[in-house]
Amino acid sequence: MRRPMVAGNWKMNGTRASVAELVESLRMQVLPADIEIAVFPSAVHVSQVLDGVDGEHVAVGTQDCAAQNGFGALTGEVSAEQFADFGCKWVLVGHSERRLLLGETDEVVSRKFSAAQVGGLKPVLCLGETLEERRAGKTLEVVGRQLARVLDDRGVAAFESAVIAYEPVWAIGSGLTATPEQAQEVHAAIREQLSRHDGRIAEGVRLLYGGSVKAENAAELFAMADIDGGLVGGASLKADEFGAICRAA
Ligand code: PGA
Repeated sequence: MRRPMVAGNWKMNGTRASVAELVESLRMQVLPADIEIAVFPSAVHVSQVLDGVDGEHVAVGTQDCAAQNGFGALTGEVSAEQFADFGCKWVLVGHSERRLLLGETDEVVSRKFSAAQVGGLKPVLCLGETLEERRAGKTLEVVGRQLARVLDDRGVAAFESAVIAYEPVWAIGSGLTATPEQAQEVHAAIREQLSRHDGRIAEGVRLLYGGSVKAENAAELFAMADIDGGLVGGASLKADEFGAICRAA
């Protein structure tokens, strides 16, 4: 049985004051103990959130890390080792905002995936197609290519300590959620692709859906056979709603 996971991606949001409020409201939530929960604040808030959340229930991740490991001359970057040293457990890799707005290629994503694991963080590898690609019937091809790059470079064993998030770009922040059937189709294809390398690992990998997950649609998405939880953006900034999504998993 795969343990469900709900992850909150706070993106480039928050001030010290609003983050303190959000952390406080999260502490008030009744969160299920049998699922894994992680929040991903901006890098400057990682330490504040680590100090504030109940670490037994809520882990903290970061939204990005350097493609290089260790310490040294790399102005502006933060390595996985540095985040792990603070107590971070997870890192998002390959989010579509970084792929499309910041030019991260499949190669960079693969290097960051590796750097994360070498540095002591578990990657959440994000995959997803644009609306144009979906309309052209290329969804499975695009997601398959994004996954293949990491599989080819790192090998299937790397997915024993990683999570995959399928996030159709057209569903992110748009209010347009993929239907449970649309998401399930892609999740099944991702698992199938992994199973061609190793059936046991494929069965064990958690596959999260992301893209306008809300309290009102979470349960029907999470009910699908290959959807093991969610990566939640906007709705994770509201503790009540994030709590409700966690309880739906
Ligand atoms: P959203 O974002 O829930 O606001 O659509 C999801 C994400 O980008 O991870």
